[in-house]
Amino acid sequence: MKLWHQSLKDTLLDLVFPQQCLVCGKEGKLFCARCSGSLSYITPPVCSLCGHHTGDDGVCPMCLSGKVHLDGLRSVFNFEGGIAQAIYALKYHNLRSVAPLLGDFLADYLKQNPIPADIVVPVPLHPSRLKYRGYNQSLLLARELCRRTGLKLDEHWLERSLSSAPQARTKSRAERLENVKNAFIFKYPTTTAPRVIIIDDVATTGATLNACAATLKEAGALSVWGLTIARER
Ligand SMILES: [Zn+2]
Ligand SMILES: [Zn+2]
Repeated sequence: MKLWHQSLKDTLLDLVFPQQCLVCGKEGKLFCARCSGSLSYITPPVCSLCGHHTGDDGVCPMCLSGKVHLDGLRSVFNFEGGIAQAIYALKYHNLRSVAPLLGDFLADYLKQNPIPADIVVPVPLHPSRLKYRGYNQSLLLARELCRRTGLKLDEHWLERSLSSAPQARTKSRAERLENVKNAFIFKYPTTTAPRVIIIDDVATTGATLNACAATLKEAGALSVWGLTIARER
């Protein structure tokens, strides 16, 4: 009921306050033609594992050194400029109308850079975050992606374990890595061994997505790729 209420409110708000460019404020679209032309796409060559822009093809030194459960991680943009503003708007300013636009970017990316996939799983939000924010931005993105690609959404397979702290509240990189190690649990095992794409808004170290991949593989996934809108450099 709350959700229905919220979407009605969003629709009414859109009627009263027409969309503006998130970057320059021009009325019309969330990114005007000029600002969408200056978005910071990640360009090849990228590391075949983590998807970071590198000097040449192959696996980057960072990936060669660590324990990686993800089969690969890809992001459409660098986390800066207009895309960073759009993600902030989605996460912290309750601007859910950004999700379809970002879903378009994910779907376009997959069309041009196919990733083996049967189902799409959003990174679950910590329950205390979910209560505070009212929605999981990764679920909104996953939903939009599935609508555009016909991929199947599974929003219940993976859950946050209640004992972990919300990631944003942990401080150092070491603390974040430690916190995320046992942060996820699966709801049910599978015998069908699906190929999974796990969706998040931003990848920082990739540790969250990697922990999700470890859990999903334990639950029976054949392969797990991460796909995010943006990547911190
Ligand atoms: Zn603009
Ligand atoms: Zn790498």
